[in-house]
Amino acid sequence: RSTLGSLGKSRAKFISAEETTGVTFADFAGQEYIKGELQEIVQILKNDEQYRDKGIYCPKGVLLHGPPGTGKTLLAKAIAGEAGVPFFAANGTDFVEMFVGVAASRVKDLFASARSYAPSIIFIDEIDAIGSKRGGPDIGGGGAEREQGLLQILTELDGFKVSTSQVLVIGATNRLDILDPALLRKGRFDKIIRVGLPSKDGRLAILRVHAMNKSFRSEVEKEILLQEIAENTVDFTGAELQNILNEAAILTARKDLDYIGQDELLEALKRQKGTFETGQEDSTAMPEELKLRLAYREAAVAVLACYYPEPHRPFSETNINSIRSKPNMRYAETSGKPFSRKSDYVNNIVRACAPRVIEEEMFGADNLCWMSSKATAQAAYHAEILILQTGMTAFGKAYYGHRKDLVPNLAAKLEALRHEYMRFAVDKCSSVLREYRSAVETITDVLLEKGKIKAEEIWDIYAKAPRIPQPPVHPVDEYGTLIYAGRWGIHGISLPG
Ligand code: ADP
Repeated sequence: RSTLGSLGKSRAKFISAEETTGVTFADFAGQEYIKGELQEIVQILKNDEQYRDKGIYCPKGVLLHGPPGTGKTLLAKAIAGEAGVPFFAANGTDFVEMFVGVAASRVKDLFASARSYAPSIIFIDEIDAIGSKRGGPDIGGGGAEREQGLLQILTELDGFKVSTSQVLVIGATNRLDILDPALLRKGRFDKIIRVGLPSKDGRLAILRVHAMNKSFRSEVEKEILLQEIAENTVDFTGAELQNILNEAAILTARKDLDYIGQDELLEALKRQKGTFETGQEDSTAMPEELKLRLAYREAAVAVLACYYPEPHRPFSETNINSIRSKPNMRYAETSGKPFSRKSDYVNNIVRACAPRVIEEEMFGADNLCWMSSKATAQAAYHAEILILQTGMTAFGKAYYGHRKDLVPNLAAKLEALRHEYMRFAVDKCSSVLREYRSAVETITDVLLEKGKIKAEEIWDIYAKAPRIPQPPVHPVDEYGTLIYAGRWGIHGISLPG
C-alpha cells in the first residue's frame, strides 16, 4: 500500500486524504447512542475479510445531518480512526463548477481514489450543495451541472460491487429537507443519523473532553466551573463549547495566570454569545442609536412571541447584550418532539418578520439597517418550507419529481404563493405590533435600563398593556391562487372542498 500523500497534490486537488485520522469515538462526547449505532459499522470495516466471508457487508452510505458545529466531521473521522481505514474527504461545493462535466468527473475521481485503498471511507461534507432535489427551484444556479454530479454519485453508489470493495460513503448536511429523495433510497444513504444540539449533560461531557488538556486549580473546581458553563449554554454546539474553553485559556495566559478560573470562563462565554459581526459584545460600548434599535427589535420579537406562543419552545429571556443580525431571544430547554400544524408554520412566518417591521415602523423605510436584514430572509425561508415541504397549502406537494416538465413557469407560480404569505405576514405582524405598541415601548424601556428581561416580566407587561384595536388582516387567499393554479393541468394537487 503506497502512502496517500501524493494524492492530495495530483489532479485531485479537491480531495483531502488521510491514511489515518487519529480520531476516536472518545473525542466525540454527548449523544452517546450515536456511537452505539456506528459501532457495528466500525466492526465490519475493521474486520473486513472475516465479515465478507460470512456475507456481511458494510452499509454503503451513512448520512449525518444536523446544525453546523455539532461534530459531524468529527464523527466521520472517528469512524475512520476506530476502523483504522483511510479517509477521503471532499466538500459538496467543490463539485459545483461552471465547467460542464467537472462535477461528474470529480465524483469519479473521488470514488476511484477511495476504491483503490479499500476498505476506506469517503466523506462528503455539505452534500446538499450537489445533492439537492432535482426539479426544485434552482437557487444557486448551475443546476444542470449539479444534476450531472448527483447522477454520478448515484451511479457510483449503485455500482459498488460490495464483495470486492468496502467503501463507506458518509455524507453530512444541515439541510436534509432539500436532499434529493433518490439519495436516501435503500442501498444508498439508507442510514440516516441525526446529530443534534447537545443536552445539558451532553454539553458537560463535551466540555470535559475539551478541558482535558487545560489547567484548572483542582478537579473539583474544574467540575463546578464546567457545570456552570453547561447550564448557561442552551442551544450551543460542540464547536462553540470548544471555543469557550480555548478562549478562556487564551484570556488566562494573557492575564499571566496559572489556572483557568470562573472570570475567564464567563468572559469567554460572553464573547461566544455575542457573535462577532460587529466586534461589539457589550451594550455599554454600543452607540446609543444601535442600542435603541436593538432594544426595539428585541421588544418586538418578545411581543410576537407572546402573541403566538410556541407550545414546544417557551422563551426564557431576551437581552441587548450582544449584537447580531438575528434576535437574541433565548429559549428554555425542552424535550419531546413537537408536532406542528399549518397555523404554526404560518405563525413562524409572521413572527420572523418582527425585526424588519418594527425597524420600519420606528425608523422609517429609508432608514433600515443590517440589524433587520436577516428577518425577511428568515420569513421567506419559513414560507418556502410551508409551501414546498409540508404539502399543507393549496399547492399540495406536487411540485417536484418528473412532473415538473408539465408545469410551465413553476417557479413564478411558487413565488406568487410565497408572495401571498409574505404579504399576509408583514401586514399581520405590523397589526400585532400596533395593537401592542404600549407593551413594545415598555419592554424597550426595561431593556434599555437593565440590558435584559426575563420571560415572566415580558408576559406580565404583555398581559397588562393597554391595546389599540386594529382592523382585521385578510388571510392568505391561497385558494384563489389555486383556482388559477388549477389550470396547470398537473396531478397531485389537492383541491379544496
Ligand atoms: P460539523 O461537521 O458538524 O460542522 P465539526 O465536526 O466540524 O462539526 O465540529 C467542529 C469541532 O467542534 C470539532 O472538531 C470538535 O473539536 C468540536 N465538537 C463538535 N461537536 C463535538 C462533540 N459532540 N464532542 C466533542 N467535540 C465536539
